[in-house]
Amino acid sequence: MQNKEIEARRVDAISRGVGVMTQIYAERAENSEIWDAEGNRYIDFASGIAVLNTGHRHPKVIEAVKAQLDRFTHTCHQVVPYENYVTLAERLNALVPSSEPMKTIFVTTGAEALENSIKIARASTGRNAVIAFTGGFHGRTFMGMALTGKVAPYKLGFGSMPADVFHAPFPVEMHGVTEADSMAALDKLFKADVDPKRVAAIVIEPVQGEGGFYVAPVSFMKSLRALCDQHGILLIVDEVQTGFARTGKMLAVEHYGIEPDMVTMAKSLAGGFPLAAVTGKAKIMDGPAPGGLGGTYGGNPLGIAAANAVLDVIDEEKLCDRANSLGQRLKQRLESLRDSVPEIVDIRGPGFMNAVEFNDVKTNLPSADFANRVRAKALEKGLILLTCGVYGNVIRFLAPITIQDTVFSEALDILEESIKESRVA
Ligand code: PMP
Repeated sequence: MQNKEIEARRVDAISRGVGVMTQIYAERAENSEIWDAEGNRYIDFASGIAVLNTGHRHPKVIEAVKAQLDRFTHTCHQVVPYENYVTLAERLNALVPSSEPMKTIFVTTGAEALENSIKIARASTGRNAVIAFTGGFHGRTFMGMALTGKVAPYKLGFGSMPADVFHAPFPVEMHGVTEADSMAALDKLFKADVDPKRVAAIVIEPVQGEGGFYVAPVSFMKSLRALCDQHGILLIVDEVQTGFARTGKMLAVEHYGIEPDMVTMAKSLAGGFPLAAVTGKAKIMDGPAPGGLGGTYGGNPLGIAAANAVLDVIDEEKLCDRANSLGQRLKQRLESLRDSVPEIVDIRGPGFMNAVEFNDVKTNLPSADFANRVRAKALEKGLILLTCGVYGNVIRFLAPITIQDTVFSEALDILEESIKESRVA
């Protein structure tokens, strides 16, 4: 079937609320490549939004899932538990930097991980309020929406949000918000809106994902940790997009030399299978009463099997090191374009969590148009790119860290051409 025919059926059959970025219908995929319904081949620099750090259908992940398929596919861990769930929890407990014992729960999506982190924070502190950051993204459920620091399109038309959620400005110096401004805003929040003694948690992405790949400075995260300690507030680090070797470390929080109280994980944790987790200090994680956490599919055996294999692959293939070297190559290529493409105003990101930001050369204002032109041109040439950012003027790069060198070189050439050609609108 042709892409166009399926697209017409989609428009009739599916709610427009589920936005779709491309009109290419996937037929099959392998590592960093996707073939569509018409046999066209694309290089995938989106990875299903940061899910495929280990690539499409990594042989070890597929092998582990197939083996699990042959044993059992569902018992519900709350009814008849299984060992690999416990094993994965032990592995995640060891992963998160902490001087204290850790515990984990499994759920199915990133949003659900965030929901549960707030439930756990409230149950263990007996406090209600939560603080998140402008530009942050934490999911499409009600608490996820409330935490998310962007109205359109995420909160539009969806009525009142859960109460007691506040936002402080995320520090992005190039957009006029310094670290000191953010800390001052938190102080103001405590004076004007909420008693810090009522705040259960502060939630932050170490590198904002949907918000624009803006990196929280090390000193800022340290200040937040100190502020939390001062007021007995829990620090929840949302690693749904930053996790699993993307930033050159297993978890981005490792760049900061701080201990989070809880970490939320999803996406690349299970290499293409729906699985999410909350890992935190044991005494906090045990706040909720038995039965208060969980869900029918939380920690589904196939997702658990996949995730155990993903952790092996990241280790065996040294994907943290590879993320650093791929990111360096990508950033170098982008830097080499700066002179000829003055629209480029920033190139950033740790490891292979990289982004390029564009302004209009005439107005010097953020240019979503330019970013969209680059994305469209790249797609025509067979490279799938994603934009992001509160101004929509950022291209983010989320290619599998397992991408073959030859495919990566090809993608860099397409990217360069697409950026250059976007100059003549
Ligand atoms: N947190 C962050 C940082 C995310 O990037 C996302 C997804 N883009 C979510 C939470 C929500 O994850 P999910 O879509 O799996 O619910």
